[in-house]
Amino acid sequence: MGKYNFETADFNSELWEQLRGAYGNIQEDIAPLMVDNPEVPEDEKTLNPYMSYKSDYMIAFDNVCNQLWHQMSFYDASYIAMPYLAKAFNYWYEKNDFIMQVLFLINAGIIVSTDNKYNDIYNNIKDTIPENIMESYNQSILFFKEKAEELLTNKLDMLKQFKPDTVSYICISLLAFVGKREHSFILLLENFSQCPVICGNCDFFLEDIDLDNDIEDQEISEELNSLITPAPSVIGEWDRKSLDNTYIWLSNVLHIAGSCHDVKKLSYFYGTFTCPGCGTKSSPVIDVCMKALMEG
Ligand SMILES: [Zn+2]
Repeated sequence: MGKYNFETADFNSELWEQLRGAYGNIQEDIAPLMVDNPEVPEDEKTLNPYMSYKSDYMIAFDNVCNQLWHQMSFYDASYIAMPYLAKAFNYWYEKNDFIMQVLFLINAGIIVSTDNKYNDIYNNIKDTIPENIMESYNQSILFFKEKAEELLTNKLDMLKQFKPDTVSYICISLLAFVGKREHSFILLLENFSQCPVICGNCDFFLEDIDLDNDIEDQEISEELNSLITPAPSVIGEWDRKSLDNTYIWLSNVLHIAGSCHDVKKLSYFYGTFTCPGCGTKSSPVIDVCMKALMEG
């Protein structure tokens, strides 16, 4: 697939039994995605998370997603699923079907976001995955990364068809490919709102910061601002090309989409935390959240 070299595991492979999803073997869920010239009814091509699918293809797609990112855990089946998802995505990419591409990119992003150091604590088979399987898994992620970058730069205007909240959800999922997986994981897991903090120096730990509510509430926001200094605004500072600095591109894409509230929340996640106990400063806050999650 372009410059990326990945192969899909044989359907007869014993790996399907070994590498399982949340509900077991995923082979029967993957197979319907591999039929020749699949068709999906137009009304099922939607980013509405409450859509109840009727077509075999979308039921299978939904099952694969539930198998691979249930409760934001990492599942071994992702190692064999990802090349298949890349192949299925490519069909819609070549058909120029934008909604289907976005659906695949969002879900592939969420799956990849779960492959991080927090979930690694529970992943003890990583070292036993056959080399070619691991290589194909990694190559398919690079393939998705290229397509995610293309969407965020060349196809940015097409995101305008979605509501601001939906654009935020798309962006934080794609962040798994174009930024740090851990950052994508935290924003997804904490609903782009909860922001637990922990001090690396003393034993201060605070779990109940909820930005959606707290930044709008005058009284609480004063208290919040004594803990977290938001990062300065970078609106207008993006060249619409570079994705190297997450805070810069993400702020600007959210701004373009009209999510002022989410731009503000993001400034807290990329701000500086000052411990009220000992005064130690740490930034960005999103890394502090990851630490709080692992140690809190
Ligand atoms: Zn402290």
